[in-house]
Parts: sequence; structure tokens; C-alpha cells
Amino acid sequence: MSSMNAKGRPTGTGAETGFAPHETFTGNRGLVQEEPLIFELDSPGASGVDLDEPEEFAPRLGGVARQGRIGLPGLSEPEVMRHYVRLSQKNYAIDSGLYPLGSCTMKHNPRLNEKMARLPGFGDVHPLQPQQTVQGALELIDTLAHWLKELTGMPAVAMSPKAGAHGELCGMMAIDAALRARGEEGTRKRVLVPESAHGTNPATAAQIGFTVDSIPATEDGHVDVKAFKAKLGPDVAAIMLTNPNTCGLFERDIIEIADAVHEAGGYFYCDGANFNAIAGRVRPGDLGIDAMHINLHKTFSTPHGGGGPGAGPVVFSQALAPFAPLPWIVHEKGAYRAIEHEGESTGQPFGRMTAFHGQMGMFVRALAYMLSHGADGIRQASEDAVLSANYILASLKDVMSAPYEGPCMHEALFDDSFLKGTGVETLDFAKAMIDEGYHPMTMYFPLVVHGAMLIEPTESESKDSLDLFIATLRDLAESAKRGETERFSGAPYLAPRRRLDETLAARKPILRWQHGRNEPASKAAE
Ligand SMILES: *Cc1c(COP(=O)(O)O)cnc(C)c1O
Repeated sequence: MSSMNAKGRPTGTGAETGFAPHETFTGNRGLVQEEPLIFELDSPGASGVDLDEPEEFAPRLGGVARQGRIGLPGLSEPEVMRHYVRLSQKNYAIDSGLYPLGSCTMKHNPRLNEKMARLPGFGDVHPLQPQQTVQGALELIDTLAHWLKELTGMPAVAMSPKAGAHGELCGMMAIDAALRARGEEGTRKRVLVPESAHGTNPATAAQIGFTVDSIPATEDGHVDVKAFKAKLGPDVAAIMLTNPNTCGLFERDIIEIADAVHEAGGYFYCDGANFNAIAGRVRPGDLGIDAMHINLHKTFSTPHGGGGPGAGPVVFSQALAPFAPLPWIVHEKGAYRAIEHEGESTGQPFGRMTAFHGQMGMFVRALAYMLSHGADGIRQASEDAVLSANYILASLKDVMSAPYEGPCMHEALFDDSFLKGTGVETLDFAKAMIDEGYHPMTMYFPLVVHGAMLIEPTESESKDSLDLFIATLRDLAESAKRGETERFSGAPYLAPRRRLDETLAARKPILRWQHGRNEPASKAAE
């Protein structure tokens, strides 16, 4: 059941509880303003610009000229402005509050990075410009590549991949190319992936045509080394392992794992998206890793989320370096040159990942972050990220349940056993956080833990901010235990949209607005 507001839209479904705030005539709540689709705001004929009537002319389109309306909404300039500003205000962001989404490293994006990225020499370059006119941009890519190799202790890096998952694809394609060069592409088809892996890992392996074989986790949240060794054989191409892993723990047996996979003739892919916990402290190259992507948009603070651009450079060991994809930058005779074609060098590149060079804006931001922090600052950031997570874990362990004994790395993992018998589930708990003004943590991931709640506070939160967050979660946990289920079952009560039917949205998505045909999703759900 739902009631209608002034615009004939349903106002929140399932809101008929003691917690329902007043419904308003406009649909606005306080200063949170209701906003329809731009097509629903259409006033035919309205326009933000005055165009002159075209002079008489004879079309040369041979009768294929459009006859009907083009179908764009008519709005004035202030209406368009308000529409997009209102939408932007509905978007929770790291700039609006603590964003504890585990495995995502939602940390502050320093504004200095933005200033650098907007310098015309970086912001206005075009990838097809002659190389001698973009020497500074090439130098910047080369300098960033240098520091990525330095921080990881690896001899080569592919800069072009445009996200973490794209980096995984790049790394696994290099492994595939190395196996082909050995004549083993037909025999080594199996990739070992721990149960706790990020979902992109098995997806990447499968996409290239490998079969995925899962390695179980131990009671204490690590890779089961015995089970892993038992799975090694002449058909194993690689292991894909995350370190620190998605339970927020450091894989202590990583060198033993690297040695064993190499002895069996396979390669070691490491998912380095969690580099934020160890940058400046551990060099993955020293651990025996052959390929690893680095998410510049996580560890090196370039903005992401909501579809923002990513950048996932991949570092390679000596064994895989020759197969790295085009392009790369070389510095010779006092100039920078992008190697863009096979045959321009001695390597055996497997091809290329992108049309051009990668995400220039992200490169500038990441290098600005690195240079403004320095080696000591990067180490400090990692240490503070780990400290913040442990502070949360230690502060909440008595009211929320932690599946593994601490200390943790940069993420604190809880399970749902503290909610047993309360009638409140992980999902309800997370939705109640929205009413408190927090973006929820990562839920139901990693899969190895029941009702998982993965919290990554990052190093950029102040102690006051962490204390308020901890006090809020403590209040929610105690409220659930007192049986105040109403606070959770219908949450969020105070968000612009109430609890959505996520299953229906996934199963029957309405992807196209058609005049008069589309019902609001909540109505269709009834
Ligand atoms: C974020 C993340 C990825 C994927 O990175 P995208 O840039 O989102 O593609 C992969 N693995 C882990 C562990 C991650 O945290």
C-alpha cells in the first residue's frame, strides 16, 4: 500500500509504521527535494536558448529527414540546472560523509590532485597529438610508472588498463601469452582462486577461457595452504590471490604459496586492489608475485564510485615483462617516446588493452598524490588505514561479532551472529545506517562469512569521525538486541527513496522511459 503525493507519485511503500515521517504535499522532505525524471519535467516548446528561425532551404536528404518530434524534453535553463543539482545532492559521496564500503577504499581525494589534473597541459591534451607536442604528458606517465615499479619492487608495468578488473584481464592475458610462448596453452587450463576472492577474479579467469578451481579457506580466514598444494599439477596455469585478503587479513603463507605455484610451473597473479594497507611497507615483488593490478582510484586517491573513471595499472615480474601489452613509454636521447606498435621493441606484447594510453587524468592525480605524500607519507597512510580499521574492530567487538581474531589489516570484518534471534538481518542493519546518515558497509561479502559486514574506514577519517561512527553502530547493535525491530524492518525511513525491491529491479529492470508507459518502480512492485 502507498499513498500519493501532489504529483500523483507514491510516497514510500510500507511506511505505515510509527516511524513514518509526515508526507508532504510536494514530495520534498525538509530540504531534500523530490526530483522526477527529466523527461517527466518536459514542457513541449520550452527551451533554454533562443534559436533563429532557419531560412528557407532545400533539404538534400532525399526524403529521409525526420518528420516527428526528436523526443528531447523541453526545459528552461534554470529548470535543467536545478534538475542536475538536485540529482547530485541525492548522491552520497566521500565528500559528504564517512563511506565505509569495504574493499572499495573510499578515501579523501585531495583537492591538490584536482588542481594538477586541470592544468591545461594535462587537461587539454589529445591522444592523437604528435608525440613531440606532449612530451610533458609522456614524462608524467613514465614517472608514475617508475614509482609504481619502485613501490611494488617489480621491473615492468602496463599503464593502460582502465579499472581493477580490466587490470586482472591484462595480467591474465599476459600469463596466457607466456603459456603460449612455452607451448603450454592447451595443457595449462586451470586457475586456482581462493573462496574469499573478489568476484572479479574468477570472472576474469573464466573470460579468457580458463577453468576456475576454488581453494577453501581455513577456520581463521586464510588460504588453506595444504588444500592449495593438493590442487597443484601440470594443468595449473596460475593462482589468483588477494593480499591482504578480503577478510581483511594478511596472507602469512604467501611466500610458500608463491614458491609452490612456481615449482609446479604456474604463475602467481595477485589482486592488488588492497594495496592501500601495505603500500610503503611491503613490496609485492619480494613476495614472488608475477602480475598484480594496482587500483589508482583506491590506493592513490583518484575519485571513483558512481561510475567515475578508474585506472588499473599492472606490474609484472621478469618472467611476464616481455608479454606486457602496448603501449609503453621509453626515455632515450633526451626525449620521451610511446612505443605503440609491435616491432618497435624487442618484447612480445600480447596486444593492447585500450585504444590509447589509459586514463590521463587519473595518472596526474595519482602522481600528485604520491609526490605530495612522499615515501614516508605513503607508509604513514597505510599504517593509519590499518590503525583506523583496528580501532573500529576493537571498539565494537563486544557488541558486534567478529569471525576472526584480530588484529586486522585495513578492513574490519563482522558477521551476523550478534543479530541471531533479534529478527534483524545484515540487510536491515545496513539500511538502518542510512537513516543515521551513513552509507552502509559492504554486505554479504566475503562469501566465506555468514551475513558479512566489511568496514573499511580508510586513513582519511579523523578520530572524532571514527568515534561517532562507532557510537552509531553500537547504538544500532544494542537497539537490535533490545528488540526494537521496527527501527530496522522498514529502514531507511528518512532517505529520498525507501527500501527498493532489489530483486524485481534486477530481474525486470525498466531501462527505457516511454511516455505514459512507465510506472514508478515501487508502484510496479505492488
Ligand atoms: C575493487 C576491487 C576489484 C575491482 O576493481 P574495479 O576497479 O572496481 O574493477 C578487484 N579486486 C578487489 C579485491 C577489489 O577490492
